[in-house]
Order: sequence, then structure tokens, then C-alpha cells
Amino acid sequence: MRVLLAPPLRSQVQQLADEAAPRECCGLLVGAREEGVLRVTSLYPARNLAVETDRFEIAPQDHFAAQRSARANGFAVIGCYHSHPGGAAQPSATDLAGAVQDGFLWLIANGEELNAFVYCDGVFRGCVTGAD
Ligand SMILES: [Zn+2]
Repeated sequence: MRVLLAPPLRSQVQQLADEAAPRECCGLLVGAREEGVLRVTSLYPARNLAVETDRFEIAPQDHFAAQRSARANGFAVIGCYHSHPGGAAQPSATDLAGAVQDGFLWLIANGEELNAFVYCDGVFRGCVTGAD
């Protein structure tokens, strides 16, 4: 699975991560699933309801609002993003425990590093990201 993420969107995730530090930023990824490709068209920043600083919990109202907004524009919520200000840009055990939806794209940011994973059958698989 390839992930298409335009440079301005990549910068936006990194900026949101910087602003939220030392807490994690989080939000939804809006876009389209195409043949072998997940195309991100916009970000939908969400409130992080987690109490701990090294966790994220997307506010359910924000998730629903993102879905409504995506559908209104002919897109879908295809994934989520969050940051790991104190750790590697890799899924944590908590991320794995919290992942439920097969085919959901996860972007994880830490500083300049931004990695993409797709959750499926209980594991995260790393994805190649490109700009087009
Ligand atoms: Zn995480």
C-alpha cells in the first residue's frame, strides 16, 4: 500500500506536532482509497482527550465531524495522525492496543520524522509515502 501525502500536509502534521509538544497532537486523515493507494487530501485536527501526556484519544465528536465533513466533499476518513514527542515515530504498544479498523492509515510524527502504517489483522505494516 502506497500513501500519497503532499508536502504541505506533511509540514502541517509536523507543525501541529510542534505546537502540541510535550503533549501528542492528533487528528483524522481525510482522503480517498484507490487501487493500492491511500491518498490524503486534508487533515482534520482533533482534540486530544488523553490525560497522560504520552497518549492520545481523539474526541469522538471531532471524529464524527471529520466524517461528515469528508463525506460532504466526496471523501472519507481514511486514517489518523498523532505525534510521539518523546519517542520514535513508530507505533507503540498502546497504539496497537487501540487500533481497531482494518485498512486504517496511521501517520506518526516525531520532529522531522513522519512514518505511515496501515493496520490490518492485528499488525501495523509500514508504507511507502510519496508526494504524488
Ligand atoms: Zn502513539
